[in-house]
Amino acid sequence: MQDKLLITNIQRMCFHDGPGIRTTVFAKGCSLHCPWCSNPENINFKPEIYENGGKIGTYGEAYSADRLVDILMKDKNFWNGEGGVTFSGGEVLMQAVMLLDVLERLKEKRVHIAVETALFVPMENLKTVLDHVDYFIVDVKILNGEDCRKILGGDLELYKRNVQILYGSGKLKLFRIPCCPEYTFTEENRKRLVEFLKEYPSVPVQIFAIHNLGEKKYRSLDRPMWTSMGVEKDELELYCEELRGNGINAEVIDI
Ligand code: SF4
Repeated sequence: MQDKLLITNIQRMCFHDGPGIRTTVFAKGCSLHCPWCSNPENINFKPEIYENGGKIGTYGEAYSADRLVDILMKDKNFWNGEGGVTFSGGEVLMQAVMLLDVLERLKEKRVHIAVETALFVPMENLKTVLDHVDYFIVDVKILNGEDCRKILGGDLELYKRNVQILYGSGKLKLFRIPCCPEYTFTEENRKRLVEFLKEYPSVPVQIFAIHNLGEKKYRSLDRPMWTSMGVEKDELELYCEELRGNGINAEVIDI
């Protein structure tokens, strides 16, 4: 078993990944393959060679818990009490055992910890880290079981069970919906989203349009990139109103 966390990037001064100012760690490897993914370098679970404008490099480096915590703690003065560290991806919960090692050390230093997750992970992975995370941000995507499996490669029932566990823990702090007219923002899925979100009335929801980002990264991996026809801001605002009309605390954000 790998005893180090495989990551692709550590990004400082992040403002949208949880409360306050945060340092975000991007884990490599994801349990899904969303067509709109803007981080293709974070899908495969192994390091990958890339070529960018003649420069050859590797996406993915294994960090021991000690090394990663030492690097992260250098940012502590920027967090200003409210902020902290966010683990994102890829799907960081697919590396739950290695992550736990890091989280235990950060918690000893009283660091606020957030996790951004799509939550399509074995339930035991979630339970492994649950006690050590303060704040979960969870994506909501395709809510038709068959489409979810075919398009994303995810088991929707597993996702729903994980959401219930997280909700019961009081640590599910935010839902995020990436909107594209081809998959998540179809009429059918918009209705399913309303019904789903109504079950979790205390959890705020952020909705945002999918932009065709990550082009350079796709090119560097010599992989074709899917492009969305996009959603207009007006349409998002209208849908946001509909969510609010159903008692859901929603807002449109730019990512
Ligand atoms: S869950 Fe996120 S990282 Fe994984 S494939 Fe989908 S968009 Fe990419």
